[in-house]
Formats: sequence, C-alpha cells, structure tokens
Amino acid sequence: MQNKNIRNFSIIAHIDHGKSTIADRLIEYTGTLTKREMEAQVLDNMDLERERGITIKAQTVRLDYKGKDGQLYQLNLIDTPGHVDFTYEVSRSLAACEGALLVVDAAQGVEAQTLANVYMALENDLEIVPVINKIDLPSADPDRVKEEIENTIGLDTSNAVLASAKSGIGIEEILDSIVDYIPAPEGDENAPLQALIFDSFFDSYKGVIAHVRVKQGHIKKGMKLKMMATGKTFEVTDVGCFKPQPVDVGHLDVGEVGFVAGSLKDVRDVQVGDTITFADNPAAEPLPGYRGVTPMVYCGLYPVDSSDYDNLKDALEKMQINDAALVFEPETSVALGFGFRCGFLGLLHMDVIQERLEREYNLKLITTAPSVIYHVFKTDGTKVDVSNPSDLPPQTEIEHIEEPYVKATVIVPNDFVGAVMEISQDKRGEFKTMDYLDENRVMITYHIPLNEIIFDYFDRLKSATRGYASLDYELADYQESKLVKVDILLNGDPVDALSTIVHKDRAAGRGRQLASKLKEIIPQQMFEIPIQAAIGSKVIARENVRARRKDVLAKCYGGDISRKRKLLEKQKEGKKRMKAVGSVEVPQEAFMAILKID
Ligand code: GDP
Ligand code: MG
Repeated sequence: MQNKNIRNFSIIAHIDHGKSTIADRLIEYTGTLTKREMEAQVLDNMDLERERGITIKAQTVRLDYKGKDGQLYQLNLIDTPGHVDFTYEVSRSLAACEGALLVVDAAQGVEAQTLANVYMALENDLEIVPVINKIDLPSADPDRVKEEIENTIGLDTSNAVLASAKSGIGIEEILDSIVDYIPAPEGDENAPLQALIFDSFFDSYKGVIAHVRVKQGHIKKGMKLKMMATGKTFEVTDVGCFKPQPVDVGHLDVGEVGFVAGSLKDVRDVQVGDTITFADNPAAEPLPGYRGVTPMVYCGLYPVDSSDYDNLKDALEKMQINDAALVFEPETSVALGFGFRCGFLGLLHMDVIQERLEREYNLKLITTAPSVIYHVFKTDGTKVDVSNPSDLPPQTEIEHIEEPYVKATVIVPNDFVGAVMEISQDKRGEFKTMDYLDENRVMITYHIPLNEIIFDYFDRLKSATRGYASLDYELADYQESKLVKVDILLNGDPVDALSTIVHKDRAAGRGRQLASKLKEIIPQQMFEIPIQAAIGSKVIARENVRARRKDVLAKCYGGDISRKRKLLEKQKEGKKRMKAVGSVEVPQEAFMAILKID
C-alpha cells in the first residue's frame, strides 16, 4: 500500500472511558468482522481481561476503510494496554504510530491516566484527535470536557468528535478524522530494515510472533533478519497483518504494521522496544527508546500443598513463554517451604499472574506480601539488592538503605485536596505541585516511596474521596531512608514470610498493628499462641490467640478482605488456604495482613 493511504494510530484513554468499545465499533463499521463474528469484546480476548474490564496484552488490527474521497485507506489500530503497570509497553505502542485518538468520558472528564497517556503521546510527536465518548449519558457534559481538555492539555478541541460507542454515534466521523488529521507514515522502502517491536506472543505452531511497525525498508518471507538488542537472528517464515487474527500476506511494506515470525522459540529473544533489521545489511542504528524490562514488585509464591511444587514450576515456565516481564527463581522459606520469588511490573501484573496460575493451572497458592527492591549498602563497602525482607542483612552490617520513589499524580475534585494531602503525608510523600484543571478539579503530584504505594495508597485515596481520585505513577529515583526489618514470631518461632521492611519511625506502630491484626486472623487452636513483633532481638509488641474451648465453634475470620480477594475466596469456597507454620495453622490472609493495617 502507498504510504499516503496508510494511517497508524492508537486509542488512548483513562480506564473505562470506552477505548475497547470504540475499537469494537471501528472493527464492526469497517466490516473487518461481521457483528456475528464479533465476540462481546474482540480486543480484550482473555477471560480475565474481560472480567476485569482491562486490556493486558495489546492487540492490533488492520481496518480497510473507503474514505470520503473514494480512496481505500489502510488504518492500523494498535491497542495499548490500559494500566500503569504497562507504561513501557504503552510507550512502545505509541512509538509505532503517527497519531492517537484521545478518548475522554463525557461525564467523567480528564483523569490521571488520560494525562499520563497524552504526555506519552506528545513525547512521541503524535497527532492527537480528541473523541468525547458516552455523550448518550444523562450526565454527559461535552462542553465542559472540551474546555477541560483545552485547559489541561492545551489541545484544540474544535475538531473533537462527539461519540457514543454504545449507541454507535460518531463512528464514521472518527474514521474520517483519522484519515484527515493523522499524518501518513514516512520512510524509504529500499533502506536497510528498521522495524520496531511493540509486542510479542507465543504461538505453539509458529513460535514467537513479533508485532512490528516497519519504519524503514520492508519485510518479505524468506529474508534473514536480526534483533538489534538481543542479537538473535532468524529467517522469516510468516509475515502479515492482523484482521484481527493473524493473516499471512507474505510481506510488510514501509509504514505498515503487522507481524513477523520465524523459528523464534523464546519471548525473551523478542523484546518490546527492540529493532529488527537485516542480518547481512543491518541498519546503522536501532530505533530509539529500547530498554529491557525490569520488575518493580516482588513476592513469594508457595504451593499450599508442597507436592505441587513441580506443577507450580511448570506453570510459571509456561506463563513466562508469553510474558518476558515475568521473572522467577526458586526460594526457600523456613515457614512456607519451597516456592518461588517472582518479579512483576506492578501490582496488577502480580494479581493477574497469580489469578491465572490458580485458575488455569488449578494451583492453590500462598502469596507473601509484595515488596519493592531495596538497595542495601553494607559497611564492608558492598551493595546488595534485596527484594525479600527476610534477606535483609543484620542491622550491624548495614551502612544505609535506599528505596525506590515514584512521582505520583493524583486528580480529585477540590473538596478532597485535604484528604489527599493527609494520606500522602502519612505515606511519607513529599508534596511537589498542585494545579487546577478547572474550577472543580485539582491535579496534585507527590514524590513518594513506591513501597507506600503498594501498601494500600490507592485504596485509601479511593475511600477518602468517595471513589473520585485517579492515580498514575512512574518510577522517579532511589533515595536513602531509615528502614528497619520487623519480624513476627508465632509461638516463639520467627516466621520469615511475615517479615516486613518499614520506616524506623513507623516500626513500633506497625509492629503493634500487625500483631493485633494477626490475632484477628489466626484461628484459635487447641493451645495458646503468642504473637510477637520484634526488631532484631527487641520485642516491640505482643498479643495472644487464646486456646479454643472444646464446645465453642470459634468464628475465626475477622479480617477485612479486599474485593478481589473476596472474588477469589468465593471461587474457592469451602477450601480455606492454611499453611502449617511450625505447630500453628496460618491462613493466607495472614501473609497479606501487613497490607491492611492502616
Ligand atoms: P476501556 O477501559 O477504555 O476499554 O473501556 P470499555 O470500552 O471497556 O468501556 C467501559 C464501560 O463503559 C463499559 O461498561 C462500556 O459498555 C461502557 N461504555 C463504552 N462506551 C460507552 C458509551 O458510549 N456510552 C455508555 N453509556 N457507555 C459506554
Ligand atoms: Mg478496554
């Protein structure tokens, strides 16, 4: 296809503003799939995604559209993952485009991830076409939302499309706007190949399939190609486009978007952000922006039934085939036995993997509280990275510790500014900026430890703002903090999986809260169970779980359980997860108790 008739675009939006629904409508309108062929949400094709209403794996689709001028256009829609955990993947997907539809809910207005996505789109020099969606809602106020977009983003909204994906209003206008406003790709068909990888997945017949945007040159079946960052070479066996299932068309020309496959067996050879070039006549330089994926959050995963260890290992290996961002290594816990330390991009990524392991592989797992990676500088001059609190060296060997900080952006109605500040300060956040988006809404930024974000920051923001707060964050830097390890002893024995790293000033309070929370969670048993919290050898709190009287059917579970846990519990009804730790039966909730004590 001639470049002037190609448009490459993404849809960016805050979660739930209607990105997937609009994508579905575009697919339907252009006849790429008939209504009957369309499942409820084609692009969100994993069950889990559908249930959670999020897009985890980006998917791409080529739409053929006859424009107002009568010419045929190739519109390549690149669907981006909609969650803050997947920021880097979003940025690479955007780098594959010339433009983006900015979808904003006509009732909700601009939210934290709207802005985060817009900034990323602007960094990639994309042309942005605003779409005000859900104009069918009684509470829709498109004029206010337009004004908000103009004020906060400085984007001209005179060409904004008013749409309702639900009622099918504005779909043709969206397609025409894509043709009219988004620039055609540029590039030289005969230059050495530069193709940007923006996603990949594993197919059991074809091996790893790379999603690519051809920036320079072209790809044909049989060519010998090379990954510039990983150095992996391969011969092209399949090359084509998504409709939305992969269709082999034998070539991808300059400016086009599609897939390439060929004897690639390991997703780690096919890294998002890497550049594919010719094996023999390589491009002088890779495309900019490549970086390896680095997990930000770690937790321990242990089988409830220790005989499931090998099954868990198999399952993790299988998951990793499709997820280069998942890392794991064997780990042993005195309390929990043999398991794995797993690294994730963020909390959502962690939840999704956990849930898939349980659902798809039928495993019952004990999960330990998530941890960030601490940089520990020792008195002997060495530095170690610690992602498991129980691995923290003794206090006497530590010179100082650095922890990761993020830049957190919160958007709330101005009535809630006080609440956001209070919570953020309590979370050791340092106030940075505050800006009014309009007369009612405020954007506040904080420099705040990632560790505190993991520990229920968003949940607290949500409940203090009646659900109005939206949050986005990105890694900022590492800074020195006064951190100590709080250990928990059950029946006199330390339980390594319950150790946590906390700020020195909060340690005593946290220790007391944790001990009393555990007292609620740990069921009564035939004997009394002392619970102690300690820093080093110093006990800072003590509680007792009293022995059960024979004739009483004790009501054991008092702990408040978050919504997603509840869902999980429901599915596994009647099968409580318990782990014998020494002589004490400890339920799963205990290992997550630290997250729920504020
Ligand atoms: P995404 O998270 O941005 O992909 O949002 P979805 O496309 O999954 O939509 C989120 C919710 O909004 C779903 O329940 C949709 O049915 C609903 N929705 C999407 N578009 C419209 C619309 O135009 N009007 C109304 N009333 N609801 C919509
Ligand atoms: Mg979606």
